[in-house]
Amino acid sequence: MAQPSTARGRVAVIGAGPAGMATALSVHQAGHEVILLERYKQARPAGNILNLWPPPIKALALMGVDTDDLGSPCYTEFRSAAGKRRVRVDLPEEIIRDYGGGFIGLLRPDLYERLVDALPDGVLQVDRGVDSFEQDGDGVRLSMTDGSVEHVDVLVGADGIDSMVRRSLWGEKPKREHNLHIFGGFTFSENTGAQAGLCILSHSRTVQGAWTSIRSKGRSGFQWWVLEAHDASTEYSGNLYDDATKLAREFSSPLPELVAATDPNTVQRWPIRDRKPLKKWSSGRVTLVGDAAHPTSPYAAYGAGMATEDGYFLGRRLAGVDLTEQHAVEAALVAYETPRRPHTARQSQQAYFLGKMFHHSPAPLQILRDQILDRTPLLQKVVGESSPKEIIAQLNVIDTAEQSFRVATR
Ligand SMILES: Cc1cc2nc3c(=O)[nH]c(=O)nc-3n(C[C@H](O)[C@H](O)[C@H](O)COP(=O)(O)OP(=O)(O)OC[C@H]3O[C@@H](n4cnc5c(N)ncnc54)[C@H](O)[C@@H]3O)c2cc1C
Repeated sequence: MAQPSTARGRVAVIGAGPAGMATALSVHQAGHEVILLERYKQARPAGNILNLWPPPIKALALMGVDTDDLGSPCYTEFRSAAGKRRVRVDLPEEIIRDYGGGFIGLLRPDLYERLVDALPDGVLQVDRGVDSFEQDGDGVRLSMTDGSVEHVDVLVGADGIDSMVRRSLWGEKPKREHNLHIFGGFTFSENTGAQAGLCILSHSRTVQGAWTSIRSKGRSGFQWWVLEAHDASTEYSGNLYDDATKLAREFSSPLPELVAATDPNTVQRWPIRDRKPLKKWSSGRVTLVGDAAHPTSPYAAYGAGMATEDGYFLGRRLAGVDLTEQHAVEAALVAYETPRRPHTARQSQQAYFLGKMFHHSPAPLQILRDQILDRTPLLQKVVGESSPKEIIAQLNVIDTAEQSFRVATR
């Protein structure tokens, strides 16, 4: 991608995760100079498994990322552990036509590779941690870990759940421990009986067991995860593969077979936590994107997706804005965050409550809960119908943003 000649400001983005890389791409397309500052020696994916809904895939393509065969599009269902269907996530025909299906299963390193490849030379600066920043009406001054200083017009905190930028703007608030942990892995074995093109999320009384098909570098495979309650104040000392195997036994085929076919050394575990939604993200010339703005539980399976969308929308909002003008910057940041806050808060709060309902219900209520989920359309209404609506709404918002962007960059 060539640097447009209309640059009207300098933007620093802290953190080369999905949010930071998307922001850098979109801001660059908007015609501004952008530096993406990552503390590690590379943009390194935290984890292996990932699914993306169509809106982030659409945003990635618009930002010049190669999305061809990036993942396996999957039709999604929620089921009981015994295999009874509780929810169908039905997307409209045209979305299935355009994206091959609903939920796209991929491996996280593949997304990082495609994002890094799309970044223009010199934008990503690795081994460049940021310690702190100060801002005034004229700009933002960054103090780097190596003692150097950067001056920019706008600062974007894409620095994840423990964001320094968020803390500096809005103070230290405690993490919300979900007291859950998740084990995940993937396999390219062809002998598991799993069917390509499906994403199946099942719940037993206390455990979630899920699998989805994936594509990775031209190969077809499957990823899986199992999730259960775990006291966050207790150190985990088990064996990842053995514990995942035990949890998967509660579920019908092919989940146990998928875990059995996985290389034990590739199984990973994450404690699940987030933070309550913020009332405001931006202050002056500084704003937040991704987990820095709205740390999201994997229960939503949308944290990286929303992070990508944030970056896309922020860049679009900064198109045509003179970043040396304090008021113009503030107005653009407000316009960026105003629709993003309620959308992202809905997803992360819903994820938090689903986690509570499935894994922290008192034992006597679990039977009643499962009867309701098996015999009434409650979950279909809460998840099966709301998800397609949100997806369609996001795709439409992207279309509108793109039209304005074309006008602003004409
Ligand atoms: C098990 C699991 C499964 C998940 N599954 C899904 C899924 O299926 N779909 C989905 O959409 N989401 C999923 N998520 C959520 C998703 O991973 C996160 O929401 C997403 O990674 C957030 O991206 P981000 O770019 O905001 O932050 P991060 O990915 O956390 O990136 C932050 C970056 O900032 C850098 N950084 C931090 N501080 C500094 C500093 N001071 N200076 C310089 N650099 C700094 C870090 O090194 C890092 O590279 C899952 C999460 C987990 C744990």
